[in-house]
Amino acid sequence: MHDEDGISLRGVGVGLYASLINVCQDGYSLSGTPVPGFDGSEVFARINESNPLTSIDGSFKSEILKTVFNIGLKKTDEEPLWIVPNSIRYRKYKPLRKRGGKLASPGLGSPQITLHRQFASLIKKDEKEILKFANKYGLLKRYSVHDLVFRNRDTGQQFQLGESLLWWKEEIEDLAACLDLWNMILGNDEKLENAVLWHRDGITIRLGSNDVPLISRANITFLDRWGKGDARGPALYYLSLETDKRLLNTLTMKFLPLQNSEICLFPDSLLATIWLVFLWEISGRTRLVRCASCGDYFDSQDPRARFCSTRCRMRSYRKRRK
Ligand SMILES: [Zn+2]
Repeated sequence: MHDEDGISLRGVGVGLYASLINVCQDGYSLSGTPVPGFDGSEVFARINESNPLTSIDGSFKSEILKTVFNIGLKKTDEEPLWIVPNSIRYRKYKPLRKRGGKLASPGLGSPQITLHRQFASLIKKDEKEILKFANKYGLLKRYSVHDLVFRNRDTGQQFQLGESLLWWKEEIEDLAACLDLWNMILGNDEKLENAVLWHRDGITIRLGSNDVPLISRANITFLDRWGKGDARGPALYYLSLETDKRLLNTLTMKFLPLQNSEICLFPDSLLATIWLVFLWEISGRTRLVRCASCGDYFDSQDPRARFCSTRCRMRSYRKRRK
């Protein structure tokens, strides 16, 4: 697209769609075990039996099990909790819709284009708010193991595998750190210079107390791309690498001959959708502005836009008149 070695898509509309995503009709709860009423070893055995995921040494360290199962047990000082579906009834929804060639919301104030901002804002919230997000949008990443049904022998009630709350928190932290950096770029924040550290051998990105090497001696020729001391360029480059990492093997590209021969990207999960919407913002495809009246973000390419809706504009007008 913009890479010299890539295929040119000039003249071809590129948009995003999302595959249908499942959300439990009866909502989600927090549970002490990955499947309510079953202990960890039973769940492990069941997954093992239905989805034989063998590694060379037989220890089942597959990526799927790591993500849906083990990560929740990583921190020993915290009781692992799981976000589990309350029933096995699901409804499907499309987290993204498209209108007029670009990602657009079906109505004013639609939350879709700000999905990543909603998710990252959970960093300051408690478990109840995280659960609320899950109730609205579903699990972050559904694997085939999530479709396994566990039946309680006594009650006959059926349950399915949930996702680790710790893992959710890690994902929220990761995105929130990226969004912080992006907000600094967006607002021409002076603090950005403290986050992008130029030194003799390259550039390091400082996020909170973490220092991440961005450019090292090995790829030092990269430095020629930016003026010395530039913070914006390297910061955006860092965000592109983080986004690449998150979207690796999560997108399917489809050619849509019945829709203006557009090419659309289909994320395979809610988590991929969240990162894709983030990518849409950092690449300038959406321009999110904070409404001067209600404080919600909305998409507008108009640099003068200040309000998300006529209602908010009128409200602000009436306020000023008083
Ligand atoms: Zn508003």
